[in-house]
Amino acid sequence: MPFKAVEVREEQGSYRAAIIDHAEFSDLADGEVRIAVEYSSLNYKDALSAAGNKGVTRNYPHTPGIDAVGRVIASASADWAPGDQVIVTGYDLGMNTRGGLAEQIQVPADWLVALPDGLSPADAMMLGTAGLTAGLCVDKLQRQLGDLSGLRIAVTGASGGVGSIAVVLLKQLGAEVTAISGKAEQYAFLQSLGASHCAAPAMLAEFASKPMVKPQFDAALDTLGGEPLANLLKAISPDGAVACCGLAAGVALNSSVFPFILRGVCLLGVDSVEIPRERKAEIWQRFAGPWQLDSERSAALLSEVGLNEVPEQLARFLSVSVCGRIRVKL
Ligand code: NDP
Repeated sequence: MPFKAVEVREEQGSYRAAIIDHAEFSDLADGEVRIAVEYSSLNYKDALSAAGNKGVTRNYPHTPGIDAVGRVIASASADWAPGDQVIVTGYDLGMNTRGGLAEQIQVPADWLVALPDGLSPADAMMLGTAGLTAGLCVDKLQRQLGDLSGLRIAVTGASGGVGSIAVVLLKQLGAEVTAISGKAEQYAFLQSLGASHCAAPAMLAEFASKPMVKPQFDAALDTLGGEPLANLLKAISPDGAVACCGLAAGVALNSSVFPFILRGVCLLGVDSVEIPRERKAEIWQRFAGPWQLDSERSAALLSEVGLNEVPEQLARFLSVSVCGRIRVKL
């Protein structure tokens, strides 16, 4: 049966997203599963795919969408049966495989994670790849530092998808969170999510000329990379740690070794895309249980759109720095 999907087409060198209602898949290959998507979400990578970024998507027409949750409707794998509720994030979904901004996806069986009891499909896509990434960062900090309660933890890019979920989760775990954000007008919002303090990125830029500064944080969750990360490392307490997952401010890291050899600071890399699905499942399980996010706070960081609004939202994503998470209801 044909279904609705976002389709990005190349027209004389420019890229345009539109809704089509005649998308179809060919028959399932061995080991593939077809899923009726209930919710997806919008991520920066989807906007890059929709804008023709060849580092994300090589061939068009293409359907972006790196996140999906839904029900299995056909399976050529012994591991999954029609009716199973599943989450798919990352791997090649929405990059060079048709993605979750569609009523159906068809993917290899080993990309699927069972939706855990206690997590609704809607909540899974309030989180999406951004939430999974924030969760993996928090997990790495816990493995390194133990209990995070009472620790002073900075979150950069705090109003973004990863950052806003990290603020909520870290607050729930008892940390004293400093939200570092370029959006001064969103400080009240960040405080409502659980930030004890808010600061502008200029605070980190002030450290640029110094080899090290007085420790201000026990740990940090960094979504920016580049210069802000290099500066943040100078302000971490002895034996502290920084989980690094993003590159919003740049890919280069020009740091001295001082934070590492004078204070024993650990820099912890985080990938949420290609890791084994068992690892993803562990984090989803935690969001269904001990990490279940406060419903008022998660509602505050969430907006929801329908599939028809996605083309406009994708275009907006690259020009306006979005706040929180955008869930897509199929
Ligand atoms: P968003 O676009 O939602 O948020 C990024 C935030 O960073 C913005 O809201 C803004 O926050 C800040 N920011 C944006 N541009 C700049 C800039 N040029 N200089 C400084 N700050 C900037 O992205 P996500 O939260 O979804 O992702 C954050 C990062 O993590 C991205 O780089 C993304 O690619 C990466 N990522 C990595 C994953 C992994 O597996 N390692 C998975 C998912 C995402 P504010 O205005 O509050 O400062």
